[in-house]
Amino acid sequence: MDLAKFEERLKADPSNTYLLSQYKVAKEALLAETHKKCAYCEAFFLHVYFGDVEHILAKGFDPVSRTLDYMNLTIACACCNNNKSDYEAPQDDDDERLIDPTRDDPSVHLHALGPRLFHRTRRGEVTIEVIELNRDDLERRRAEALKALEAERSRYVAERNPSIKSRLKRELQRKANPDQEFSFVKSIAMEVLLHAEG
Ligand SMILES: [Zn+2]
Repeated sequence: MDLAKFEERLKADPSNTYLLSQYKVAKEALLAETHKKCAYCEAFFLHVYFGDVEHILAKGFDPVSRTLDYMNLTIACACCNNNKSDYEAPQDDDDERLIDPTRDDPSVHLHALGPRLFHRTRRGEVTIEVIELNRDDLERRRAEALKALEAERSRYVAERNPSIKSRLKRELQRKANPDQEFSFVKSIAMEVLLHAEG
């Protein structure tokens, strides 16, 4: 079932408590899984859209069995969701499939240089192109996040008090945790930053 149909179904039948409860359960599980980020671009977006049915990919909802296939569900921001739309790889061409954020390790397919993503595989390339993962606003926001990281790193490098320094290092490392926005580019940048410090 595609997104529009899922929406239509809820709109047409808003008192369907089964559908709504399934949706709520799925949503909670997915939010925990993605750390409340878009599964594709890693941006926080729930402060803008929280609660909107239209921002869940509901392809896993099977109207026949009325069950949810959680593995086929993920949370995406409006922009990624829209770009992904109904893209489907040509049949039997695995290389043209999008990266599945619920199953694939993105670092196998993608790499980052500063705020920009690069592909390691054809699937990475297809995903960057289809989802537009290097779109201007994303690159700008990633660049801002990296700039803030660099500022914190300078503070850490300049600090001479060992106990303050080790606290600053822990805080710095935490900035690239999976629950942080843009943690993919941040963790790659962090390797470089901390390595340079020695
Ligand atoms: Zn997104």
